[in-house]
Parts: sequence; C-alpha cells; structure tokens
Amino acid sequence: MPHRSRLHAPVFLALVLSLAASVPVAVRSAPAKVSTLEDIQKEFATVPCEDKERLAAVKALYEKAGAPAADIKIEQFDNVENLVLVKPGASAEKIVIGAHYDKVADGCGAVDNWTGQVALTQLYQTLRDIPFKKTLVFVAFGREEKGLVGSRAMTKAIPEEQLPEYCAMINIDSLGMGPPQVADNMSSKPLAKFTGELAKEMEIPFAHASIGRANSDSSSFVAKQIPAVTIHGLNNNWQRVLHSGNDQPAKVNAASVYLGYRLALGMIVRLDQAACNAYR
Ligand SMILES: [Zn+2]
Repeated sequence: MPHRSRLHAPVFLALVLSLAASVPVAVRSAPAKVSTLEDIQKEFATVPCEDKERLAAVKALYEKAGAPAADIKIEQFDNVENLVLVKPGASAEKIVIGAHYDKVADGCGAVDNWTGQVALTQLYQTLRDIPFKKTLVFVAFGREEKGLVGSRAMTKAIPEEQLPEYCAMINIDSLGMGPPQVADNMSSKPLAKFTGELAKEMEIPFAHASIGRANSDSSSFVAKQIPAVTIHGLNNNWQRVLHSGNDQPAKVNAASVYLGYRLALGMIVRLDQAACNAYR
C-alpha cells in the first residue's frame, strides 16, 4: 500500500468534516473514534478458522465494539442464521451494511470473509454513538458460500410495502489484498458510480473490478430493487487465495481492510444525508 502516508491526512479530514456536519453540537466535543490501521491489524491476530465457531466469534466482536448483548439478534430461518444489529435512526429509512461470516471448507476464511466482519464491527464501533437520520442495519450473513442463503432469506422476509424504506445496501466481501473496488457485476449502477466518486473525493485508491462468475450478498438486494454494492479488496492473485488452504490470516494486508473501512464509513455518512431514493 505505497499510497498510505500520502492518503491519510486528506482522507481523515474529509471524513471528519462530513461527520461533523451530521453530528449535533452536544456530541461534537467527543468526536467518534475513527479506527486506525493498528486497530484493524490487531483484529487479525486470531481468526476463527472453523465454520462452526464463526457466528459466536462475530457476536463477541460486536460486544467488544460496544454493542449491548441484548441488541445483537440472531435471526433464525429454516436453513440459515444471520446476526443482525439495528442502530435506530430518526426515521425508519434504512441503510444495510452486510458481510457474510461463513467460509468454505478449505483455509481459514481470513480474507473471505473475516475481513468483512472486522470492517463491519469497526464501523459499528465508530458510529454507534452518533445520531443518524436513517436506521443502520448491520448484518452478518450465513451460508453465502452455499448460494447467498442468508441474504436471500433476509430479503425474502421483507414485506413488499417496506421495500421503499431500504435506501441502500453496502456489502463487504473479501478485503485484504488490494485497494477497495466495486464488483460491478454484483452491484447496482448508480450506487457503484456514487462509490467511485466518493473514493475519488476521499483520495482512496479505487477501481471498478467485476469478479467474473462469482457472486455475493448484494445480489439478493439488487434482485429486490434495493440499491446495493459489493466492495472487495482483491488483487490479481485472488484465485490462489480465496476458497483454498492459502486463505490464512497472514495473507491479510491490514491496509486494504483499513481503506475499505474508511470508504464504507464515508459512504454511510453520505448516504445518511441523501434522499432515500437518490440511488434507486
Ligand atoms: Zn466471500
């Protein structure tokens, strides 16, 4: 990540400025703590490598991030469990921030997708005490690798008349190898364009990079006409790492996870200020 030192100051400033604009005076004296590269690096010291340990480990990550245990819900469907944490806003309009917690049999699922869990829980920690207009819904999806089972179950359960309340969905799947990128083949066009423009404004290196023949949980939302994007952080070596014994904690470049976190943080703040149908 050679751009890091050049990027840090303007990225930080842009974020603080945009956060300040949305935060009431009373809270400004105690600004939200933006996670550092070191905070994120620490989370990869131990990664739960067994699929059956993952859901409990995600719950523990949210608790460590300051979530009251009673707010962390396990949504049980016929064949899958999602972990859901709702941060109520001033309105019922929602921004969903999701990442799958399951992994394939091979490897440790560190890149795919413990990076997503770390990014989401750091986002929660940064945002949890800031009043938002919109309600933030953090979701850890189960069984993505078996065909987007968790995200399909969630979107199928949304009553038709509530669909317009879902303003946007940001899915994080497999950061940790390169700069953040939007997988256009799993994302809605207006939201993908917004993501690229914001990355440019924040001076975060970014690209549009479809992952051919692959899919992720954003597609379940796109299918319901909810604007959604998948952000990944893969590089040209991804086929040698993902879904293989090589997907280990040592393969995770924390700077890639950090940049994905920063981009998603900027997106959430901006989307909160936008009209709910702005990217539909
Ligand atoms: Zn994945």
